Amino acid sequence: MSSRPTARRTSSRSRRMRVLYHRDQLRHRPRFEWVSGKRVEHFERSSRPGRILTALERCHRFEITPPKKPLPMAELERTHTPELVRFLRRACGQIREGTYYPNVFPKRYSLTAPAEGLARAGFYCLDAGTPLTRWSYDAARLAAACAVEGAQLLLDGRESEVYALSRPPGHHAEADLFGGYCYFNNAALAANRLRAAGRVAIVDIDFHHGNGTQAIFWKDPDVLFVSIHGRPEDFYPYFSGYAGETGEGRGKGTTLNLPMPAGVDDAAYRRQIERRVVPALQAFAPRSLIVSAGFDTWLGDPVGEFDLTTPFYAELGDRFARLGLPTLVVQEGGYQVSQLGENVRTFLEGFLDARGDSTPRRMK
Ligand SMILES: [Zn+2]
Repeated sequence: MSSRPTARRTSSRSRRMRVLYHRDQLRHRPRFEWVSGKRVEHFERSSRPGRILTALERCHRFEITPPKKPLPMAELERTHTPELVRFLRRACGQIREGTYYPNVFPKRYSLTAPAEGLARAGFYCLDAGTPLTRWSYDAARLAAACAVEGAQLLLDGRESEVYALSRPPGHHAEADLFGGYCYFNNAALAANRLRAAGRVAIVDIDFHHGNGTQAIFWKDPDVLFVSIHGRPEDFYPYFSGYAGETGEGRGKGTTLNLPMPAGVDDAAYRRQIERRVVPALQAFAPRSLIVSAGFDTWLGDPVGEFDLTTPFYAELGDRFARLGLPTLVVQEGGYQVSQLGENVRTFLEGFLDARGDSTPRRMK
């Protein structure tokens, strides 16, 4: 790897991690969604961050602070199209109460992008599970601010690992589309900040394929995107995440998709990490790492269908930490709310414990 661990040693249990989170991210409250024609309670509940915070606060190894400033629109527009950013701002500002579900999805390529109008939101949306509320834009912008500020802390050399509790999540949002509970792509925004210091690798361990992140960096030779996810033949987002998708043009070879069937256990997942993910990262030699961390791979998750156990997340965190790279962990999915906090804490503590033995060189 480009930045190898140094010999500096610290006590592993005293090592702390910066966490970025703003409570106004909770104001976005989607209430329900449609799954196979049925109206169900929305899985991306506003109770998710609270469970994570409670678990982190209990072990006193995390320093939780809000992002210092709002993310400028210009920063959002480095990753997303100005049309999407402005449309979301205006459309959410139009909503007084309740939730709005786009229900007209045009075949868009022959149309002019609409500047406003809730009825036209389907132009920018890829599914029927991602409603707009009065607070969706503001909450998504704060979630993005957590990820970008985390990236900046790495760039400044002030931290060598940061956890962005970004909610709503981001990895399904493309440059000009929201969907999959995601509005802005937090990991992609962070990668576009981190690339100032050199190549960036993104490893997406959410159960679902990170179609948005893949699309944003599809032709980009400087950002590696690696994703382990449920087979798209069977699982959302269905239209991307196949093994044959490897990038295009100068970005050919910097996308790696590892689709797996339902029922994957710790051992099978470990094999993919060791045989495919770690070698790909070592070959790419990035300057920094982003982990798109979804926990819907847990065995009891109501959405994902892998069978990973809670202790295994400590091993995963340990493995990523031992790559010796400045690392930003960005929250993605994970929908069994009662276990989500423990799974996140276990992952981050596994990471911290490994870092306690070998501190990576900071970016500055
Ligand atoms: Zn997911």
